[in-house]
Amino acid sequence: MTVIATDRSHLWHPYDNPLQPGPLHVVREAEGVWLTLEDGTRMIDAMSSWWCAAFGHRHPKITAAMTDQIARMPHVMFGGLTHAPATTLAARLAALLPEGLDRVFFSDSGSVAVEVALKMALQAQVALGHPARTRFATVRGGYHGDTWKAMSLCDPETGMHGHFGNALRAEHFLPAPPITFGADWPEDPAQNGIADLEALLTRHGAEIAALILEPVVQGAGGMRFYHPAYLKAARRLCDQAGVFLIFDEIATGFGRTGRLFAMDHAGVAPDILCLGKALTGGHISFAATVTDARIAQAIADAPPRIFMHGPTFMANPLACAAAGASLDLIAEGHWPGQVAAIEAQFRAELAPARHHPAVADLRILGAIAVIETKAPLDMAKVHAAARASGVWLRPFGRLLYAMPPYVITPDELSRVNAAMLDLLG
Ligand code: PLP
Repeated sequence: MTVIATDRSHLWHPYDNPLQPGPLHVVREAEGVWLTLEDGTRMIDAMSSWWCAAFGHRHPKITAAMTDQIARMPHVMFGGLTHAPATTLAARLAALLPEGLDRVFFSDSGSVAVEVALKMALQAQVALGHPARTRFATVRGGYHGDTWKAMSLCDPETGMHGHFGNALRAEHFLPAPPITFGADWPEDPAQNGIADLEALLTRHGAEIAALILEPVVQGAGGMRFYHPAYLKAARRLCDQAGVFLIFDEIATGFGRTGRLFAMDHAGVAPDILCLGKALTGGHISFAATVTDARIAQAIADAPPRIFMHGPTFMANPLACAAAGASLDLIAEGHWPGQVAAIEAQFRAELAPARHHPAVADLRILGAIAVIETKAPLDMAKVHAAARASGVWLRPFGRLLYAMPPYVITPDELSRVNAAMLDLLG
């Protein structure tokens, strides 16, 4: 049987019909920005495989670190054991992050990193004498993962988790911050969203454990870019209300928005930070939840004095090695220039989209370009076009977007931009 036929017989695909999934391409190899299909066709991975392959696929330095690690210790449990790949990585992450964020919990996916953050916030609030703080707050237009509690904090109206709505506890949703990155910050709190946040925290703050936000870029919930000033206000208001602030940098971390972390646009740090995706340069599933000492201390001081979460593959050495090599690439320092050049080229080459009759908005930030169309794109058409154009794009709804690996060349990026414009018809 062919790969496709076997796939059709056995496999589920993400966000797809289990028995009649949409069209598929069979990938044989991935290297740099290129995906090679079964028949030899090559496509540029303009999605960085859902934000993660920031330095390109099969990066020689990351694969070398993983190969070295797999030969010695692919995995050991983390309960009662530790190892240098994890300790070195945790210390390096702490050194890279805003001061104080230095207690690292490694897990195996972004969604789990979010679950861990929410559990930590809840447990620390109880430990600090606030057992009534059992709810969470967030903004519309957000996405935090597909696991149970993470789902409750995704925008209920984007349709991704609507079918589970009846079984999810309703949390507090604020209006999405206005799309104002790069524009003036609307000073009026009624317009910039801060009045809503203030009102929520005043009325319900005593029952809220934490506010969770994707800093600056709301990804899968709508690809919305908002003003960093919102984060500054959120930090101040959360502090006043005794509500923890969680930043989900799973999509934005490690340079994607032009800063190492999206929160750096605001110069604001959270109490708890979630990282994933590009943490390993997209080479293996891995994530981290990082807290400050206050959260760790609160949990350490109050019975049961332990944090009840322990994935089997916690701090997997192979993933730690991949992440360590990714941090080496970050430290080499090419990414800021690469991302700035990608942003400039997006701005220059996608500019015609702004005047296209099918386009509602064009948003560019760092190595992310979003064309919001007026009507949903035809996925089958986009899928077929990928082969012809040699560019792999996977829009959702009315959002056609690219976030290529930082190592993409100008010629390759021109090809991506031309493919995006072609899809507008
Ligand atoms: N949070 C954000 C902001 C994300 O973009 C994603 C994935 O797209 C997640 C959480 C969930 O991560 P994972 O798919 O690794 O579980």
